[in-house]
Amino acid sequence: MPIEPPYPVFIRSKVIPGFGRGSSDLGIPTANIPADDFTTSAVPHGQTGIYFGLAQVSGSYGSNNATNSPNKDDNDDSVTATANTSLISGQDAKVLPMVMSVGWNPFYQNKQASAEVHIVHKFVNQFYGANITIAVLGYIRPESDFVSIQALVDEINHDIEIMHDRLSQPEFAAVAADGAFSNT
Ligand code: ADP
Ligand code: MG
Repeated sequence: MPIEPPYPVFIRSKVIPGFGRGSSDLGIPTANIPADDFTTSAVPHGQTGIYFGLAQVSGSYGSNNATNSPNKDDNDDSVTATANTSLISGQDAKVLPMVMSVGWNPFYQNKQASAEVHIVHKFVNQFYGANITIAVLGYIRPESDFVSIQALVDEINHDIEIMHDRLSQPEFAAVAADGAFSNT
């Protein structure tokens, strides 16, 4: 069975700082993507919500930290303090499973979608400024109203289960070898 159109949708972008809330509040870091790189063409049907797919980061850890982000609080230097120019390699450089949240970016008066990607992998370091290639492979659910931190964490963990389940289906087996990803 082929992948259901319009998937796979490939996005190539750079990781920028978000509001710094993913890790600290939830224990679930999300690599934020600039809204400019994330036009509605990247999101089939322009739907906000939770998607699943694969992602690969490349370049160096912590390169070009914390610049150019509309979401960046200039007084917060927490992410600039750990610049690390070594190359992303090993398991961190593989094509990895991810869940992606797409929402309307308040910075752009909610006219532009933005995306953040939680890669299901334990990285040795953060990778602000790195390149990220994403294959969006399907839609999981719409955004839900905020209930509590714990409910949100439970929901994300459920999304991750769904993602693993869907990714194990045969039509997705060849995506990681797609030429859009680098062969490491
Ligand atoms: P921010 O609000 O700046 O995006 P987060 O708390 O969401 O902060 O953390 C995101 C950052 O954490 C990413 O930009 C990346 O550098 C790093 N990171 C480490 N592990 C992961 C992971 N498994 N998935 C996504 N980002 C990760
Ligand atoms: Mg984030």
